[in-house]
Amino acid sequence: MIEYHFRDWLRGDNVKSVTENLSMKVLVGIKRVLDPQVKARVKADQSGIELTHAKMTMNPFCENAVEEAILLKEAGVVEEIVVVSIGVAKAEETLRNALALGADRAILVLTEQILEPLAVAKVLKHIVEKEVPNLVLVGKQAIDDDCNQTGQMLAALLGWPQATFASNIELQDTDATITREVDGGLETINVNLPAVISADLRLNEPRYASLPNVMKAKRKPLDKITLDTLGLNTANRLTTLAVNEPPARAAGIMVATVEELVDKLKNEAKVI
Ligand code: AMP
Repeated sequence: MIEYHFRDWLRGDNVKSVTENLSMKVLVGIKRVLDPQVKARVKADQSGIELTHAKMTMNPFCENAVEEAILLKEAGVVEEIVVVSIGVAKAEETLRNALALGADRAILVLTEQILEPLAVAKVLKHIVEKEVPNLVLVGKQAIDDDCNQTGQMLAALLGWPQATFASNIELQDTDATITREVDGGLETINVNLPAVISADLRLNEPRYASLPNVMKAKRKPLDKITLDTLGLNTANRLTTLAVNEPPARAAGIMVATVEELVDKLKNEAKVI
């Protein structure tokens, strides 16, 4: 076993030591979401966000999960990266993007239903049992539902250890050391493999796909399965009562002096 610091030569920062030639298989869960640069518009009937004709993209935390899998592959620790998305037919674009970035194979589980995290976790468990990866990487949360639940639920359903909010991952042959971003700072934990790890933003800096790789990704394998054929109970358990726009911010006022500002903060806003 040879230990070396692969990020030294990859990017010149964020040094991480890994053990070479582990030939692991990593499965990455990817969600297609509304592009964060686009303003979300609530549907007229308040049942959700209007997604027809909206610009969609890979969930940002999933980009970190994919990037980490690619870095581990480039370091010789991971042999195969399989990306999985559960969603509408257009999620193929998102999976092709992950293939262009460096994933080897993709699986699209087709459904028109908007699944809750427990249902997504059940589907991912089904795929994990077929693919038998050493590691599952997911984003720490999807920016559309902000649930932050799927990775944890998947680990529970599989009976695997979990490490959430990872900002650094070091793989050894039977275990992984993960640095987690917690309120008080950083926590370092060790989990046995196989495990579920959720990626935080500071884990890495996702790359962009080059045009030649976008072209090559069109020929990489992408399997499509229909959710109904899996025989899973993916019924939703929550009912959305209403989705509302955030309240509009009231206009600010100009004050002439610091004294006036302090007076207003004290006597009107009553915050000091
Ligand atoms: P959430 O629990 O909904 O905040 O999602 C956390 C993570 O679970 C995401 O960043 C994805 O990695 C994964 N995930 C959630 N929904 C899906 C989906 N429909 N398809 C694939 N992966 C998903």
